Amino acid sequence: MQTINQPLGMAIIGLGEYGAGELLPALEHTSYCRLAGLVSGDPAKLDKYAKQYKIDSSNCYSYETFGRIAENKNIDIVYIALPNSMHLEFTLRAAKAGKHIICEKPMACSVEECHEMIAAVEKAGVRFSMGYRLHFDPFNQEMMRLGQHEQFGAIEKMLLQDSHVIEPGVWRLNRDLAGGGPLVNNGIYCIQAAMYITGKLPVAVEAKFAPVTDAEKFSEVEEGINWTMYFRDGIIAECETNYSKEQNVMRVDAQEGWFELGPAYEYRELKGRTSKGDMHFGPANQQTRQMDDFARCIIEDLPTRVPAEMGLRDMEIITAIYESAKTGKRIKLELGEYITLPES
Ligand code: NAD
Repeated sequence: MQTINQPLGMAIIGLGEYGAGELLPALEHTSYCRLAGLVSGDPAKLDKYAKQYKIDSSNCYSYETFGRIAENKNIDIVYIALPNSMHLEFTLRAAKAGKHIICEKPMACSVEECHEMIAAVEKAGVRFSMGYRLHFDPFNQEMMRLGQHEQFGAIEKMLLQDSHVIEPGVWRLNRDLAGGGPLVNNGIYCIQAAMYITGKLPVAVEAKFAPVTDAEKFSEVEEGINWTMYFRDGIIAECETNYSKEQNVMRVDAQEGWFELGPAYEYRELKGRTSKGDMHFGPANQQTRQMDDFARCIIEDLPTRVPAEMGLRDMEIITAIYESAKTGKRIKLELGEYITLPES
């Protein structure tokens, strides 16, 4: 990738497992953006990472002092890696401060919040991208190519499963902070995959909550959920996510063969196979590629492949899946054709 003279400055908001564990190291390899600031509620973490990454204290903010980032010309983009319920607040505050935004998944905790975020971003005239890293992963991009270009004929069905066992006591089990259970955390990747493999939007969903095996642990969010996404042309995606098992499957059966990833949704060491042989791609840092792509979109005034409207669309689907699981009814979807699915 070409290097540019003036890479955009990025501040990471939330120095937890993802922010500090994945995004900070990934920013050491970017070309179009560079780490320029840190935002955390914990002064000890700010101090630790500022030292490690040589960030001056004038570029470090607490949640209380965050508003002052508006005056910081070193910082062009903020990356929100906070618990889901905080995405709305920090998007509104970042937009007000005139900063471009990358927001982690899920975009927010409701469709209404997504609309509020889009309105704020538009009003402020800043750019917004979802943190959907798999759009920048070579194995997942190959699934898009094989599916959207029907390399194995018309797709008939998909099996999409992303489940991880969760430990007790974490914010992801708290409804107010997480907005939902494994569906908003891991299942969102299956929802995404069904659309980027087919290049189509679902027309209906049908869902069922999994049986609860630990009522104490899962008193606020679902333990698991199984759902079906229906597309025009009879394509079906059978999906599953659960906080009490391990699954990592992305399988597509088409008229003239099959193609699959497993593991499919991880940061690294993905593996892919097709009915004609294995997929081969070298190592690629998904987060580096994703952050560089957004910075390049800003610099060159290009549209991002993972816009706010995609985050909103996925929240509309999530809402319908929950409604189906609660009512036992199939829910029809009327999703606006307001996004272009990524070219593969
Ligand atoms: P984490 O718990 O490891 O970190 C959360 C950070 O938020 C911590 O630094 C914590 O101090 C801070 N925080 C502020 N207020 C908090 C509160 N009330 N409760 C808990 N923490 C609070 O979580 P994480 O895994 O880094 O997830 C952060 C965001 O990133 C979430 O939106 C998550 O969905 C997303 N994420 C995305 C990916 C991905 O692959 N794209 C992977 C992991 C997480």
